[in-house]
Amino acid sequence: MSVNFESSVNGIIGDDTVLECGVCWWTYDPRQGDDAQDIFAGTSFRDLPADWRCPCCGAPQSKFMIKEAGDEIQPAQAEASLEDKVAALVNAYEAAEKDMIGLPIHNGVLKVEAVGFRAYGGDVVGVILTPWCMNIVILPGDLTSAQLGSKRGHLFPFGTYSFVMGQMEGVGLVETCSLFSPMDDFDDHAVARAAAQAAIDGLFQVDEEALEKARKKQTRRSILTGRSGPSAVAT
Ligand SMILES: [Zn+2]
Repeated sequence: MSVNFESSVNGIIGDDTVLECGVCWWTYDPRQGDDAQDIFAGTSFRDLPADWRCPCCGAPQSKFMIKEAGDEIQPAQAEASLEDKVAALVNAYEAAEKDMIGLPIHNGVLKVEAVGFRAYGGDVVGVILTPWCMNIVILPGDLTSAQLGSKRGHLFPFGTYSFVMGQMEGVGLVETCSLFSPMDDFDDHAVARAAAQAAIDGLFQVDEEALEKARKKQTRRSILTGRSGPSAVAT
C-alpha cells in the first residue's frame, strides 16, 4: 500500500519492523499502531494506507527509515533563550522543507514561519506553519517523562490537547499537535498566518461557553439546594 516508499528499503520491512520519521524522529511501532489515524496495533508499516503521514510533522511515508538501535533522545537546549529555541525550530523545518519541495503535499505559496511562541509552564509553545502542515508545537522544558513516539496531554486555558513526541535536529524534543495537514486550503501565506495566530490565541482563551454552562449548573444547584433547605418558601 505504501506506494511511494523506496523499493530498496521496502524489501526488508517485516511485520514488526519499527521505522522512524527522517524529519522529526517520531517512531512508528507496529505493536502500537497510530490511534490518532485509526491504525490498529499490529499493522505493519507496509500495510499503512497510502495517505498515512507522520502524525508528528506531516512527513510522507517516503521520509521514514528503519530505526537503528541506539537512537537516543537528544538533550534539550535547556539554557537557550526562547528566541534561540524558536529559531532552531524554524531552521529544522526549513531543512525538512528541502526534501518536500515537488511533493504533492508541498504548497508553494506558503513558507515556514513560527507564530505566537511564548513561555508556558516551563515549556515553550506556539504554532509552526509550514507548506505541508500546521502544528501546535511544544518544546518541553521537563524531560523526565519524555519518551519518543509517546503521547501526552497538555492543559491550556481552553482545554487539554494531545501531543505526540518527536525530536528534531538542533532542537531536541518537539511535541506536536496537528491542526492542518496538508495545507491545500490555504492559497495565501497571510491567511495561513492569521489562522495560526487565531489557533494559538484560542488556546490561551478560556472557553467562555463551557464556563457559562458550569456557572448555570452551579446556579441551578444552589437554587435547588435553597428550595429544599429549611428556609424553603412556606405555603
Ligand atoms: Zn515526522
